[in-house]
Amino acid sequence: MNAAPASLRDEFPLLAATPELHYLDSAATAQIHRLALDAVVRHETTRRANVSRGTYRLAEAADLAYEQARQTAARFLNATSTDEVIFTSGATASLNLVAHAFGGTLKAGDRVVISVAEHHSNFVPWQMLRERTGIELALIPVTAAGQLDLARLPELIDSKCRLVAVTQCSNVTGAWTDVATLVTAARKVGAKVLLDGAQGAQHGPQDVRALGIDFYAFSGHKCFGPGGVGMLWGRGELLAAMPPFLTGGGMIGEVTPQATTWAAPPQRFEAGTPPIAQAVGLAAALEWMMSLDWPQIHAREARLCELMIEGLQRIPGLRLLGPEAQEARAPIVSFEIPGLHPHDICQVLDAHQLALRGGHHCAQPLLAALGAEVCTRASIALYNDEADIAALLDGLGFVLRELA
Ligand code: PMP
Repeated sequence: MNAAPASLRDEFPLLAATPELHYLDSAATAQIHRLALDAVVRHETTRRANVSRGTYRLAEAADLAYEQARQTAARFLNATSTDEVIFTSGATASLNLVAHAFGGTLKAGDRVVISVAEHHSNFVPWQMLRERTGIELALIPVTAAGQLDLARLPELIDSKCRLVAVTQCSNVTGAWTDVATLVTAARKVGAKVLLDGAQGAQHGPQDVRALGIDFYAFSGHKCFGPGGVGMLWGRGELLAAMPPFLTGGGMIGEVTPQATTWAAPPQRFEAGTPPIAQAVGLAAALEWMMSLDWPQIHAREARLCELMIEGLQRIPGLRLLGPEAQEARAPIVSFEIPGLHPHDICQVLDAHQLALRGGHHCAQPLLAALGAEVCTRASIALYNDEADIAALLDGLGFVLRELA
């Protein structure tokens, strides 16, 4: 009925090799697709050389592969130009890049608006910027269901606001952000919008132009690609006006003992040797993602999520965090069971071949706002099926018998 086509699970080498595993932690790291792994191996065994430096054929082949990966990423994002696409080591690096480089164009008294629902990687860099420059940092609160409380926007997004930096989708509650409303509010006052797409990009190709945003950050390891690589997309004219973040080789125009000039973007923001094979692997994953029927995948994931929520709601005392409405959330479900610590829950589940995450999920302000310190999270990706959900519900039965 609702099972993932066997072939789909089989396209992921780790899952194919461990048929007994119920992997429900794709919000932390999704499994790598075979095509991405193959692309990494092919690159490392046939084209391994540094980029932007060599004049020999091997280095030229590496250059070509790396720049083709940038073109693929630009298509995945519907960017206007490949020059707007920067390879980083991951979403965290992308967000820090914006906080330093765009942050470097802000002055004391300018306001950056984030939300209570942010992952720490879109929280702490702005606190650090506040310490360095004296910007004002304001928080969009969340509702009891963990959604951004947009009624508060008029007082937060006014003429002092220079940037609105929010998550596209919460890594704890799965709540999708109403990006259109935020973009409209930001545009009215000339503020820029950064979207942390770490949880969004896994759920399909993005259209940064249609979203109307200015920056988009995501990680390769959550998009069925290798670890150690991520992306930052930024509007061309903004990137051109930004100073670099990291400095060193590859990002300069000219260096003299007196001063240095910068290369144009994207090279200005890619100091040092980039994650070359990882970028090539990520491009293979993104290419594969672009070939999929996303409406069908979303419908399947939503059905699995509903099934999971129905089962969880039958557990006495269990508290679900996040929005009630299915369409308001990605297939990420966090919950608390009174008296049971998520680490203990996850350990018992692990003994039953279930991989889930428990803890504060790098979102302590959000958990505090929801009245929780820690919680257990199950996240569904396109390779999960009904057997995974049934195993989770059975596993929680064992948890209750063993621990409660
Ligand atoms: N933002 C969100 C919403 C996330 O879920 C994560 C990863 N959990 C990050 C940022 C950071 O991503 P990474 O660890 O890949 O840099």
